[in-house]
Order: sequence, then structure tokens, then C-alpha cells
Amino acid sequence: MSYVDDVLARVKKQNAAEPEFLQAVEEVLESLRPVIDANEEVYRKQAILERICEPDRQLKFRVPWVDDNGQVQVNTGYRVQFNNAIGPYKGGLRLHPSVYLGIIKFLGFEQIFKNSLTGLPIGGGKGGSDFDPKGKSDREVMAFCQSFMTELCKHIGADVDVPAGDIGTGAREIGFMYGQYKRITGKYEGVLTGKGLSYGGSLARTEATGYGVLYIVDEMLKCNGKDIKGKTIAISGAGNVAIYATQKAHQLGAKPVTCSDSSGWVYDPDGIDVATLKDVKEVKRARLTEYVKARPNAEYHEGRGVWTVKCDIALPCATQNELQLDDAKALVANGCFAVAEGANMPTTLEATKYLQENGILFCPGKAANAGGVATSALEMSQNSERLSWTFEEVDSKLQGIMVNIFHNLDDAAKRYGKEGDYVAGANIAGFEKVVDAMLAQGVC
Ligand code: NDP
Repeated sequence: MSYVDDVLARVKKQNAAEPEFLQAVEEVLESLRPVIDANEEVYRKQAILERICEPDRQLKFRVPWVDDNGQVQVNTGYRVQFNNAIGPYKGGLRLHPSVYLGIIKFLGFEQIFKNSLTGLPIGGGKGGSDFDPKGKSDREVMAFCQSFMTELCKHIGADVDVPAGDIGTGAREIGFMYGQYKRITGKYEGVLTGKGLSYGGSLARTEATGYGVLYIVDEMLKCNGKDIKGKTIAISGAGNVAIYATQKAHQLGAKPVTCSDSSGWVYDPDGIDVATLKDVKEVKRARLTEYVKARPNAEYHEGRGVWTVKCDIALPCATQNELQLDDAKALVANGCFAVAEGANMPTTLEATKYLQENGILFCPGKAANAGGVATSALEMSQNSERLSWTFEEVDSKLQGIMVNIFHNLDDAAKRYGKEGDYVAGANIAGFEKVVDAMLAQGVC
């Protein structure tokens, strides 16, 4: 058996109850085959793949808190510190009822390669809890965040592990967690990113992931002889990534026409109105039925269906495995020519394969949504030098990083005879730097 097959079999056996983690490992290792085969002897002897697929450590802890009725509630907290070969662990905290160890491991594994692709010195990690902030009062969210950080603070630090936001963890949650970290440790340091502007946050961090998706799509289209101007875009999600992807799409002269949440989706033929969407999601924290009340030409549909809308470009920006084989077929049938993943692993393996086989330009999440973590690393730099950069300065660095990422993965794909396969290109480019650092640092 080849080295890749050996390791895949071992990972499947050891993590059988974690399908999302297995999916992520399979996608990465399959596309790394040419690189591994070319260096099989060294990598096998150094157990590079076994080491990269096994987290440095995984923490699981009890998070007790008191609800508004005086009832004690208990959630489970996680932090998976996956690989710090090129820098301190870095990755968000997901607060969602679906969270369990397998989700955090898949996200942490992806984060290793994504962070490497940014070109910045950050390792891979991820964390979160099965706590659901939806429907909780601000006091309940604070009680949870303080309890969560009471344990987490023992394992993180500005040069050790720097968590950030993700699904369910926005500015409010980061603020509560930062306050508790400071209170327990007495340290005022850049231990979390996505902080508020009054206490060390970076301008443009809120916008970064969504903007970054559009910057890389713009570059991918240019390099393939196409122009984003005037194109119709289907976007899923209605959270941080989706909102700012929608905003930047408008700014680049495209027309984003959809958004969605876990209840349903909206088609707005006039183009999604960002101010209305922000008001519904960021201010009222309401469902998308509120959006159509303010936009009479827009339609609301219950359930799934956003990928049935005719579009040129599709940007899945909600959650994992939301774009499945049937959706991929509908997109191709409707003339879509490019897909970029704003969310982490939103496209199933079968759907990705179908899209690529049908000539769709496909930019994977670890490249397309890397603008978020890249700007988090810029926030870390500003915290270290105790300075704040302007919005334009951060935004222009972000744009440069996204353009650079695209060329890195394009070049890596070409070097291994896989021109246009940006999934392979992203995995190879991300992997090469991490492995180089691992080999240099010996057996650890
Ligand atoms: P938010 O919590 O702000 O928004 C998530 C959106 O996706 C919401 O509209 C939510 O709807 C929807 N959603 C979540 N779960 C489901 C589901 N099971 N089915 C349908 N819709 C769902 O998260 P973000 O925008 O921050 O994150 C979105 C994705 O982008 C995630 O995969 C995240 O890991 C990834 N990402 C985020 C980065 C960031 O900087 N924020 C950086 C890089 C990647 P509802 O409100 O109804 O739950």
C-alpha cells in the first residue's frame, strides 16, 4: 500500500465516529498524493502524515453556568491545538449545538493549511462548545463566556494560542471572553482576535473574511479571462461572512441576489440590500422573513434551495456540507462557472468532484476564506507593536494577501501538473511550508 493509503486507513480506524474530520483528511491527503509520492521515503520515515493528522493536544472541559431562572446548565468546551510548526495555534471558537470533537478536529486540521497559505506565522487550532447563543439573554451569554474562559485561559496566550470568532461567536462573545481572560490572568495582551476597536481590535477584521472571498474570486476570474463586473452571484448564509461578501460583491459591480439562514432563503431580484440584511441579522438578530417585509420584490422560501437560483458565481458562506451533489448539478445546469467557499468545507466531496469535472473554477475554503485569519494575524501584529493601522492600510494588506494566495495555489497546482485544480494547489502550497518547518524542528 502507498504511504497515503496506509495513513488514510489508520486515520479512518482511529477516528471512525468523526465523519467531518475524516472527510477533511481524505480531501487533503488525496490531493497531496503527487507531493507525497515524490518524497515518500523521507516522509514515511519521519511519519510526517501521522504527525500532521494527530493534534498536538485536544482539550475537552465542563462549562457550567447559571441561566436566568437560576438553573445550572452544563455545556462541553473544546480546544484542539493541532499544529504549531509555523507559529502559535490560531483558529476560531464555534458556538453551535452541532459542535462535538469531530467538528472541531476537522476545522483545526483545515486551519493548519489555511494559515500556512496566508504566508503569515500562524499555526492551526480550533475550539468551541455545543452552547447555543440563539435565544439566550446577554446575561446568559456572558455567564457562559466567563465560565468557558475560566478553563480556556489556562491553555492560551498571545504567543501560545490565539482564538477568534466563528459561527455563534461574534463581537459580543469575544468581548465577554476577553474581559474574563484579563480578569483571571491580569494580562492585557492580544490573546483573542476579533476584539472591539476600543480594546485592541483591528479595523477591517469584521469585513475581512467576506471581502477576502471576493478579492480572491476577482483574481481567479481575471487569471481565467473573465470579469466579475455585471455577474449574478448566489450567496448562502446571512452571518458575518455572507454579509460582507455581499457588500464587496456590490462594490465590485456584481449583483448578489440570495442569502439564507438555517430556516430558509431569500431571492431578491434587485440585488440583496446590505443595510436591510445587517439590520435584520446584526441589530434585530431576527429570521430572514423580516428581510422580505422590508423588500417587497424579494421572495422568501422555507428550507434549502438557494443553489437552484440561476447565477454565474456561487459562494457558499453558511456551514459545512451545505452544497451537495444535487446542488452542484443544478448550478452547472444553470450556467454557473465559478464557485468559491466562504464557509469551511461547505461543498461535499462528491459535489466538489462534479463541479471540477464540469469545468467550474472552484476555489476551496482554505484559500477563499483565509482573509479572516490573515486579518486576525494583522490584529496580532498591531497588538504587539501597540499601534492601530487605518482601515485602508489593513484592507490593502488583505487584498495583497488574497491575490498572493491565489498565485501560490495556482503555481503549486501547475508545478504538479494539475493546472486549474485549485483544491490540490491550496493543499500542496499549504502543506509544503508546514512540512518544511516540521522537518527542520526534528521529532516533536
Ligand atoms: P455566523 O454565525 O455569523 O453565520 C452563519 C450563517 O450560516 C448564519 O446565517 C446561519 O443561520 C447559517 N447557518 C449555520 N448553520 C447552518 C445550517 N446547519 N444550515 C443552514 N444555515 C446555517 O458565522 P460566520 O459567517 O462567521 O461563519 C460562516 C462560515 O464561515 C463557517 O463555516 C465558518 O467556519 C466560516 N469562516 C468564518 C470566518 C469568520 O471570520 N467569521 C473565517 C473563516 C471561515 P442561522 O443564524 O439560522 O443559524
